[in-house]
Formats: sequence, structure tokens, C-alpha cells
Amino acid sequence: MTRIFNFSAGPSMLPEAVLQQAKDELLDWRGSGMSVMEMSHRGKQFSSIATELEADLRTLMGVPENYRVLFLQGGASAQFSFIPQNLLGEKTKACYVKTGAWSEKAIKDAKPYCDVIVSANSEGSNFTTIPELASWEIDPEAAYLHYTSNETIHGVEFNTTPDAKGLPLVCDMSSNILSRSIDVNEFGLIYAGSQKNMGAAGVTVVIVRDDLLGKCSKFVPLVFNYAEQVKNQSMLNTPTTYSWYLMGLVLKWVQTQGGVESMEQRNIAKSVKLYQAIDNSTLYRNPVEIVSRSRMNVPFILANEALDKEFLTAAEAAGLNELKGHRSVGGMRASIYNAMPESGIDALISFMQEFERTH
Ligand SMILES: *Cc1c(COP(=O)(O)O)cnc(C)c1O
Repeated sequence: MTRIFNFSAGPSMLPEAVLQQAKDELLDWRGSGMSVMEMSHRGKQFSSIATELEADLRTLMGVPENYRVLFLQGGASAQFSFIPQNLLGEKTKACYVKTGAWSEKAIKDAKPYCDVIVSANSEGSNFTTIPELASWEIDPEAAYLHYTSNETIHGVEFNTTPDAKGLPLVCDMSSNILSRSIDVNEFGLIYAGSQKNMGAAGVTVVIVRDDLLGKCSKFVPLVFNYAEQVKNQSMLNTPTTYSWYLMGLVLKWVQTQGGVESMEQRNIAKSVKLYQAIDNSTLYRNPVEIVSRSRMNVPFILANEALDKEFLTAAEAAGLNELKGHRSVGGMRASIYNAMPESGIDALISFMQEFERTH
């Protein structure tokens, strides 16, 4: 068996130890005589998996008592429209910060439900910057301020948590959750899909402060009504049980690695190394302003676009896969989430240097 270094943006690489454990437990989960896939979600075995999952996420992220943790379906994309429907209440406006493709989608999906105020917009720089926080126009009448902490496609990441000037801060953390320490107290709501830093596709984590619950529009299906799901431990209907289990394994793995702070140190080391290699070359270039470069998604452009195809073919032959950039920005992109080992970065850098030398 050979495993590649998988630089996919998501679904993405998982820790090998997690896959091994899932394999070992596939037919018989801890003496239960059945697979997690076969368990009733109401049974005692799965209940223990669910309880531990929430407890581990709370510990890793330091989720305070006055926040509820939900595990929902529909991906982060479903939340783009269910966030305004759950949080607006009597309000008619919401503030959004536009920093790339994902925040753009969140805005598009919010528009049918409220007046979207674009508080800041970096489209003018082709989404290679984060607008200066002091310049953001925040309407005190808005229900919340939404931003995307890491723009997976453009490779732009916030290096601090913005000040929402008293509004509940809502954050799409899909592609950098658990990669850096944050203070959950600064947020009203955090959401993230599972398939980048937390496991297989199929679960969306929503962490929401108690006081924001209970304002949901009556037109929202109960399974997307946060207060209803809180009452039912995210099991109003059958959850994606196997994805919950896999997320549980990934969280245990993060714990064994030393927790989020330790992941952050490694992510700094890994990303600095790769950006340095890019900056020190004449063939490769990263377009993002230095302070806003993502530690998770590293886009780079070859000086000669005609070499793109050859680069990708040769990379794949070297066991370095999924380096093609998103169709909307072109070029290359290396997604280097928590599960990407430093040896994967080293292998990529060696390959890039050798490719540059021979071209
Ligand atoms: C991947 C991603 C999404 C969409 O996730 P889905 O599970 O496909 O809905 C949303 N936001 C960000 C920042 C992402 O990286």
C-alpha cells in the first residue's frame, strides 16, 4: 500500500492513525459485535460516541458553558441561508464582510432574508487582502456581522478575530477550525463543515451562544431550527452517525498531538516553510498580501502558465496529488490542513525546486 500526500481542499487528507483505527473497528466497534454504521443512533453505544464527541470538541476549543454545540447536515453551505433565518428575529439587516468566494456565497444566500450590508469588500484587490478593520462599516441595527475566517479558494486568512462593535460575530470557520487558538467568547456563532480539518464529509458543527436562540423563522424546517436541535441533542432526525464517529476519532488525534495550540505551532512551521520556498523562487508566486496569507490553503502561480499541466502530471507521478488550483482562480493550490504532515511539505518543496531547476 502506498499513500499519497493529498493536497486537496476538501474532502482532504485524514491522519493515517485515524483511518487505521476506523479500519480496526469497522466490523466490531469495541466488542459491540457491530459496526458504528449499523448502530441505532438512540442506542447506548452511539450515545456514548455522541457524548464524547461534544465533550472533546468543547475541551479542544474551550467552548464556554453558555454556548450550545450542534452537529447538523447540509454542509456549511446550508447554514448560509439558515443563519439569517435563525438569527434575524425582528431585525431586517445583517452585516457581511466580503473577502473571497465563500463569503460571496454566504452573502448571496442571505439576500432573500435580509438587507445585506457589505461592511468591507476586498474584491478590488482580487481578494488578496483583508480590508483594514478600522474601515469596516458596521450598522448597529444589524442582527449580526458575518465573516469567513479563512477563504479556502483565495488563500486569505484573518490573523486576528475582528471586533464586531457589539454585534454578535458570526464566523464561517470551515477551513481553519482547530488549526489555531481562538477565544469562543468573542463569537455569537461559529460554524464549520467537517471535511477540511475535522473528518469525513457529512457533519456541520454549529456553536451558538444561548441568547441567540429562539428567534428562528417559522418557515425553517425543524431540522435546521437551532433551538429545536438543541432540545434534541442534534438528533431530531437520524444524524450522519459514521461521520460523527470519524470526527470523534479526529478530535482524539488532535488531543494526542497536543491540542489546538500544538497544531497551530505546526501549522505555522509548515506554512512558513512553503511560503519561503515560493518567495525564494523565480518560477512560483503567491499573490496574497503577506499578513493575510492562509496557513491552510496556499495558492501559487507558475510564471509560465504553459507549464501548469506538466507540473501537475509530474507532481502526481511523485505522489503529490490534488495541487490544481480552484477553477475560478487557476494556478496551483496546496491545502495543508492539520492532517498534512511536515514530511508532505518537505516533499512538495523538494519537488517544486527540482521542477524549477529543470524548467
Ligand atoms: C468548503 C467550504 C464551505 C462549503 O462547505 P460544504 O460542506 O460544501 O457546504 C463553506 N465555507 C468554507 C470557508 C469552505 O471552505
